[in-house]
Amino acid sequence: MKITPIIGLEVHVELKTQSKMFCGCSADHFHVEANTHTCPVCLGLPGALPVPNKTACEWCVKLGLALGCSINEQSFFERKNYFYPDLAKGYQITQLQKPFAINGKLTIDDHEIRINRAHMEEDTGKSVHVDGSTLLDFNRSGVPLVEIVSEPDIQSAKEAKKYLNKLQQIIRYIGISDADIEKGSMRCEPTVNVCIDDQFYTPLVEIKNVASLTGVMNAIDFEINRQVKQFEEDRQQKNSSNKTTRGWDADKNQTFLQREKEGSADYRYFPEPDIPPIIFSKEKIEEIQKNLPKLPGVKISEYKMLGLSDYDANLLAEDKDFSEIFDKIISLDNSNEFAKFSANLLLGPLKIIEIEIEKINPEYFKKLFDKKSELSSTVIKQLILDSYQSGLDPLEIAQKQNLFQISDTGALEKLAKEVIETNPKAVEDYHKNPLAIGFLVGRLMKVSRGSANPQSGKEILEKLLK
Ligand SMILES: [Zn+2]
Repeated sequence: MKITPIIGLEVHVELKTQSKMFCGCSADHFHVEANTHTCPVCLGLPGALPVPNKTACEWCVKLGLALGCSINEQSFFERKNYFYPDLAKGYQITQLQKPFAINGKLTIDDHEIRINRAHMEEDTGKSVHVDGSTLLDFNRSGVPLVEIVSEPDIQSAKEAKKYLNKLQQIIRYIGISDADIEKGSMRCEPTVNVCIDDQFYTPLVEIKNVASLTGVMNAIDFEINRQVKQFEEDRQQKNSSNKTTRGWDADKNQTFLQREKEGSADYRYFPEPDIPPIIFSKEKIEEIQKNLPKLPGVKISEYKMLGLSDYDANLLAEDKDFSEIFDKIISLDNSNEFAKFSANLLLGPLKIIEIEIEKINPEYFKKLFDKKSELSSTVIKQLILDSYQSGLDPLEIAQKQNLFQISDTGALEKLAKEVIETNPKAVEDYHKNPLAIGFLVGRLMKVSRGSANPQSGKEILEKLLK
């Protein structure tokens, strides 16, 4: 049996604007006392009029452009009507026919995932279940939300994860949201069905309540297996078009039937009469495009051009602040050798501690690079860490602690003589077995406090012992 999973992702991202989508209330609702950030507009009181948040609309366009979408010069909002306790107005303001952004794409390992749209809408309130009753908190009601809908081009749970990671990275790079799945500022609903033997399609399922990246992967895998099993059980259901909604139970690691899905007609969409169409002129769109920061994909290929490995390039580009500091460092010297040297320090000794980016001094990388022939690689790693922690010039630290390698043969010879005089037993051992030189080199490193070049030290000891 040939099984081809067909996976699409609907992703909701909360924008981190100061105020909500259609009113002046603070959009911050995380760990805030319930119902303190509300007003007649976001509580849906009669007669209250919505005013669109200009920044939110621009950010939605910004994301659309970063995803390679076309931007509709004229867009409008629509009402999606449904009843739910956390939806005070009885409808959600969203975009259906004319969203801000359409027809984009994200490329995952050379596989193109088409993006159908990125549209603007508002979040709902939150139901909180306490001791058998349900309480409502409207702080989240009306928070700007962008929905990014992919075409069903994703072929595995692993690819879905990569898509989400990449989307998250782009969103953070352009600074419009924290896109934190655990905190709920990024939410994901996979749609899954399976094509069997290139001719049968299992019914489409939309999965809700997935609250982590691992959850997304597990839910998709579970659903693929469940649908294939179901198909084997009742072979008669060919090319079924019934779409159902299933919830994800993370504890049991399985999906469960929630409801037969309403078609879009059931929502009785119609244009929002209180908000005029939104116009983005060609000039305005170009301006937003021009101000987009360099995106991670571009940075990764630039880093690889500098001779860095695919792995290192990805790690450096992963976080915007981190890649910005790397860019600052490598702007001081355009050699590939310096890029590799700095990447090793950033991804080695510094990456393993919780670093504060602003405490990193790019100059120190350059200083150490210029003196690298006089310092051992272990010492360089220690110096970058010490200078980060103390803020002091690494070369000054090296000077104070006598860490420069002794390249002066005279000085080295003096230390070597001292080692030979104070270790007669080891000298005796050496004359029986030349391999015992290792011990004497070790002593020499110790008396020079690590600053002797081990190779020249060994040569000098051998010369003296002969
Ligand atoms: Zn409000």
